[in-house]
Amino acid sequence: MKIAILGAGVTGLTLARLLHEDKHDVCVLEKGKVPGGLCRSTVVDGFTCDNAGGHILFSKNKEVLDWMKDRVGRDALVETERQTRILWHDRYVPYPFENGIGSLTPQARYDCLSGYLKAVEKRKSGAPCPVNFRDWIFWKMGDGLAEHFMIPYNEKIWECPLEEMDASWVAGRVPDAPVEDIIKAAVGLRTEGYTHQSVFWFPKHGGFQALTDGIAKGLEEKVHCKTPVQSLRRKGERFEVNGEDYDLVINTIPLKELAEVFEDMDEGIREECRQLHPLSVCTVLVGYKTDTPPDPLSWIYLPFEDQGPANRVTFFSNYSPHNAPPGHASYMAEVTYRGDSLNPDQEWLDSLVSSLESCKLLKKSDVVTVQPFLSRYAYVDQNLAFPQRIARVRAWFDQSGLLTVGRFGRYEYHNSDQCIARAFQVHEHIRAFAASGEPKPLVL
Ligand SMILES: Cc1cc2nc3c(=O)[nH]c(=O)nc-3n(C[C@H](O)[C@H](O)[C@H](O)COP(=O)(O)OP(=O)(O)OC[C@H]3O[C@@H](n4cnc5c(N)ncnc54)[C@H](O)[C@@H]3O)c2cc1C
Repeated sequence: MKIAILGAGVTGLTLARLLHEDKHDVCVLEKGKVPGGLCRSTVVDGFTCDNAGGHILFSKNKEVLDWMKDRVGRDALVETERQTRILWHDRYVPYPFENGIGSLTPQARYDCLSGYLKAVEKRKSGAPCPVNFRDWIFWKMGDGLAEHFMIPYNEKIWECPLEEMDASWVAGRVPDAPVEDIIKAAVGLRTEGYTHQSVFWFPKHGGFQALTDGIAKGLEEKVHCKTPVQSLRRKGERFEVNGEDYDLVINTIPLKELAEVFEDMDEGIREECRQLHPLSVCTVLVGYKTDTPPDPLSWIYLPFEDQGPANRVTFFSNYSPHNAPPGHASYMAEVTYRGDSLNPDQEWLDSLVSSLESCKLLKKSDVVTVQPFLSRYAYVDQNLAFPQRIARVRAWFDQSGLLTVGRFGRYEYHNSDQCIARAFQVHEHIRAFAASGEPKPLVL
């Protein structure tokens, strides 16, 4: 088949590779100057930076993890033990917070433990699972964990009142903390959350983009950069994209953007797609001179407003020794925003660096490079209308014959490994279609 793939992020490139290996004639249309999408990296003044915040290579899915490692090359990866902390007022607390409460002040430790035990009791006596995220946090975690971390951190990252957010997305992302673990943590015994992320990998050279570069290897002539999708219409059983005919189209560009070019969309679904607003991220690379390497941390969370605008700082030069020039180290600070509410001008960047200095992460006088990167589509906005809206949109596409997949091609809050797993599923779907010639609705 002649297949158009819209978007050259990790999802589009994985599909392009698999379908090319099956001998289909693939053509990837990408509006950016280089492929990679949210996995892209850039080198500035000798510092490597992941444009959309620090990315790590890991997966619960062994098949996917092995496939990713092979694309980069096993010898071209650095393996690191994850060391993450929350900067909680005057001290570092291990992450996840509920596993780190033994490091809090006695009062906060008491608040968290007693609040958690009361929440467990309430759930046992039938308190129903709330719909909105704020109530869910109190219901699941109790007052102490909510007020000392979960509420301030989530308000900072999501940039909206948490009662306006749906709670269902949390399932599977926030691990269940057994009561036993919380009690152990409170008395200072070590417990571990997120065991699947206890080690991670990162490319020695080229930043996380080494992954998408590896996936795209050999496909150079198939990937057309600086080629935005400008028109898309049906032509009988086939499709026409930018004036060219294809047997099949796979979309991975944001549905909100697709809705502006796909002529044959149901008008109600088009309107729903227009309401799928993203949350954006500004990543700021901060390179600085140092004789001593930074603490062996992977990243830290900054949950409080008085710590400045960043919600997370990645210790990026710890991911690979090649991420910073000799005698230097680097951080990447992530700041979320909505719409056009952020302008990273010099004054704003200065105040961001000052806030890192106040957090004792660096001395301003050592800073040699500060570079912001904006990613408009970064997080899926989990507002209360979202679950029903996206279910209607996906259902319409899945029976339409135009396949749509990817973080914003389907609005699934997925990491790159999960995007690859989805691409594997769509590949199987296309194989079945190619074998039978019978189009069937996509089931993911
Ligand atoms: C802050 C942050 C941290 C993350 N951390 C991790 C991590 O540690 N590990 C991990 O595995 N994942 C992480 N992720 C998730 C990961 O980046 C994404 O899941 C993945 O990159 C999404 O790939 P995609 O191909 O679905 O979408 P995208 O990468 O968004 O690709 C879509 C492509 O479509 C192109 N496009 C858009 N409009 C058009 C158009 N009109 N015409 C043509 N092309 C168009 C875009 O330029 C883009 O290249 C993180 C994401 C963020 C935001």
